[in-house]
Amino acid sequence: MVVGFEVIRLHRPRRSRSIGFAFPLPPARSHAMIRTLLAVLVLVLPSAAFATEPGWKAGFAAVKITPAQPMWMSGYASRTGPAEGTEIELWAKAAVLEPAGAPPVVLVSLDLVGIDRDTSLAICKVIVDKHKLPRANIAISSSHTHCGPVVGKNLRSMYFFDDAQGKLVDAYTDALPGLVLKAVDAAVAAKQPVELSWKTGTAGFAVNRRENKEPDVPMLRENGLLKGPVDHDVPVLAARDAKGKLTGVIFGYACHATVMSYMKWSGDYPGFAMLDVEKANPGAVALFFAGCGADQNPLPRRDVELAKKYGKQLADAVIAVLAKPMTPLPAEASAAYREIELPLKEIPTREEFLKQADAKDKFVAARAKLLLKQLDAGKDIPSTYPYPIQSWRLGKDLSLVTLGGEVVVDYSLRLKKDLGGNLWVMGYANDVMAYIPSARVLKEGGYEGASAMIYYGLPSVWGVKVEDLIVEEVAKQVKQTRGK
Ligand SMILES: [Zn+2]
Repeated sequence: MVVGFEVIRLHRPRRSRSIGFAFPLPPARSHAMIRTLLAVLVLVLPSAAFATEPGWKAGFAAVKITPAQPMWMSGYASRTGPAEGTEIELWAKAAVLEPAGAPPVVLVSLDLVGIDRDTSLAICKVIVDKHKLPRANIAISSSHTHCGPVVGKNLRSMYFFDDAQGKLVDAYTDALPGLVLKAVDAAVAAKQPVELSWKTGTAGFAVNRRENKEPDVPMLRENGLLKGPVDHDVPVLAARDAKGKLTGVIFGYACHATVMSYMKWSGDYPGFAMLDVEKANPGAVALFFAGCGADQNPLPRRDVELAKKYGKQLADAVIAVLAKPMTPLPAEASAAYREIELPLKEIPTREEFLKQADAKDKFVAARAKLLLKQLDAGKDIPSTYPYPIQSWRLGKDLSLVTLGGEVVVDYSLRLKKDLGGNLWVMGYANDVMAYIPSARVLKEGGYEGASAMIYYGLPSVWGVKVEDLIVEEVAKQVKQTRGK
């Protein structure tokens, strides 16, 4: 299958107008600063090194990843055929942020429901091979739009399609790393001196979907009766050139991209939000990242006008932040990445899987058959999952934490409380292998706490310690990258 691609909106460095604060360090000096700490690859640039020579370079680019052929859509089990058209194009976008004399950090945002571990590894490999970056410096985020294509084995027990569709999914998956690399290449080529700054805004459309019945939401909202934890923060990171013109903006929100469940390709509300931000800032590339919105829905929903409305609300929040003074970031960064072994509760026996393979629930049966296939191939079913956790420090003390999977809101609320306000948390990052419930949600069960594991093809629910293990590793990395 041919996947169309198109590189757009490159910001070429304007050398003649360079504002002249980017003086790369001699290579020997920057190499000396590379330190490996235990299993964590951490790049530390002491702030003192740049006290007299501040300067970021940044480049942004986007490559179209809308499938060129009608293929199976991701996120909902209820669909019975491939996509029938395009509402808005899907994009792979890249932001390359380079502090003077050090390797850049690269953020990739994808208008996809998620990517599996193998796809993530393949994308990282092409970027690492070509741009010689440490793994820790690359973050791959999925917007979690439910109007994108099925990719790799992500949510594979959810879909029942024929071999022809399977081949399209495989071909799309195979093409994806090359398309992401094109976006990264273009962003690297577009690097130019910029000032980076950040600030957090707010948008109120995310609703805790476990605590509020969907049909009641308009009435509950009107009466101020919506229940359950939410995170309405809209973190914004802006890059401006020497003339103060916005060249790129990264923003996040913790809410499922599930306004639409129809048969058209669309970035859902994040897609509309990015378009609105870009329209208001001609020439700039806007990247959305999904926060800890696994138990949050944009409600009410199922009308494209609502997807546009929430997109505009989010874009307005970003534009409002951009219009006011933002906190400048000195040109320094550090990055850490580690996969921790996240325990599953229990691994059923072969006999139990054989029983499940005959279950009336076709999703339970599909999962059992996938896992039996694995056993038949002589492979074990591991009792833990290599769960990716990553932390970047940008400037003196802004931390961006990325977590794999569909992370519930309790994590961002707890981490921001425990680790201080200058902390952004990205979910759906690097590998979307499952829902990631907090201890509370795991105990309560339900979709996010238990049954969603079936669609992700994992053998059981998570073990009781997941929240503590994740929070412990994040705290360790944030401390490390902040140099405290
Ligand atoms: Zn989801």
